[in-house]
Amino acid sequence: MAEKKRLLQILDLIKMLPRTNCKECGYPTCMAFATHVLREGVIPGKCPYSESEDLAFIEQSLVDQGADSAYPEHLFSARKFVQGKIKDYDFSLDADKIGARLVDDKDGPYLIVNLCERLYRVDKEQVAPLDGGEHDLWEHILLYNYVAEAGGRALTGNWVPMESLPGSLAKRKVFVSGCEEKIATAYSGHPELLRKALKELKADFPDLESNAEVAAVFYPLPKIPFQLLFWDADLEDGFSAQVKILFDETVLDYLDIESLVFLGENCAQRFEGLRS
Ligand code: SF4
Repeated sequence: MAEKKRLLQILDLIKMLPRTNCKECGYPTCMAFATHVLREGVIPGKCPYSESEDLAFIEQSLVDQGADSAYPEHLFSARKFVQGKIKDYDFSLDADKIGARLVDDKDGPYLIVNLCERLYRVDKEQVAPLDGGEHDLWEHILLYNYVAEAGGRALTGNWVPMESLPGSLAKRKVFVSGCEEKIATAYSGHPELLRKALKELKADFPDLESNAEVAAVFYPLPKIPFQLLFWDADLEDGFSAQVKILFDETVLDYLDIESLVFLGENCAQRFEGLRS
């Protein structure tokens, strides 16, 4: 997976629209139109009042955020594919296995899943954070994959590095640069801030028999613990700060390797946000 770029957000898009809610695009409001452009692949040019340079910028941003592919349609079809995996899924059977909360109300059933201490609603039609904030297609794909895998063996408490996981050869480098190095860089010289950030993520600090300066366990997804080890920079000896993430040996029962890499990138972004 290529490095994830900052995605165009709904507010960015709204600022470029006339905000008259004239409905000529077929949507009741400019907000609804912007949401469908970003979440459903609606063509931005359907608003006849957009400035041509704004349209060009929006389209280029959507192309840029395609990551591995040139066009966002790739992401939309990827989401449709993983969404299809849970088409016949019985939420009530597997919610417990993945640590999700089952809700069965007038809109239900659906699942509430905790991703990096942010709660998301996952149903067969959509994924959305309960706080109503920004979210993106990568998160949709990640959460649908997590739900679709439907768990497996109980966690064993045996920690393993990514390089020992089957199929990780091509992914290890991306995980190091997109997750471990980013966290290490953000907290170099500030282990106390890393501990603070980990507490925000409800981490435990068990005695892990490690010489790391910070050693913690947190759960970016309910059944996927990360053991984070941090060694601060040693300027005298010329060592830069390092982070190592270990996984429970059952991790691939809960998420495929590609999604696991993205989960690491998502965590790194969260840590960077908590640092600033
Ligand atoms: S056509 Fe443009 S201005 Fe009118 S509602 Fe749609 S997005 Fe807003």
